[in-house]
Amino acid sequence: MSDCCSINPPAALRSVKARIEKLAICPLCGEKGKRVKSITLQSLLKPEALARFDGSVHRFCSNPACDAVYFSGQEAAPFLKSDLTVRVGIKEDTAPRHVCYCFNHTIEEIEEQWRSSGKITVLEDIKTRMKIACWCETKSPQGSCCLATVTKCMQAVIANQSRATNNLLQALSAQPSSDP
Ligand SMILES: [Zn+2]
Repeated sequence: MSDCCSINPPAALRSVKARIEKLAICPLCGEKGKRVKSITLQSLLKPEALARFDGSVHRFCSNPACDAVYFSGQEAAPFLKSDLTVRVGIKEDTAPRHVCYCFNHTIEEIEEQWRSSGKITVLEDIKTRMKIACWCETKSPQGSCCLATVTKCMQAVIANQSRATNNLLQALSAQPSSDP
């Protein structure tokens, strides 16, 4: 009994899967990327960057700390923030940081709404206006609907605010008189 000619499908599948997964990993930070359409790169890359776009499948790196925006997983260098005509809001730490490119909403606006009224209407505004039209594929660096990003951003703003409030309460409760 010999199995010298038999193939090992699980191993073969594993290697294909590993190859596909490797292609989905950002070469700069190692995080998984989400596939974007060519039209997004064609719409948002500066002319000199667009000249080296070969039309191959590219993915968006959503790691806020990573300089890479689009990568192919092939040998070509990734496209960086500086290769785009727009700022990638989630990868910036100064205003204005856009989270919705179709209707011009920023992280600063979300923070301001929460600070001034305790209510955030950005999400509802987007939902209402996108019923008529939106242009995520050509306007947003992620090339897809921004609702998930906006929701995460709102949660972060609310969490930050309650953390700041907790810190303040802790500072207030730490009375000098409580020292032994
Ligand atoms: Zn990255």
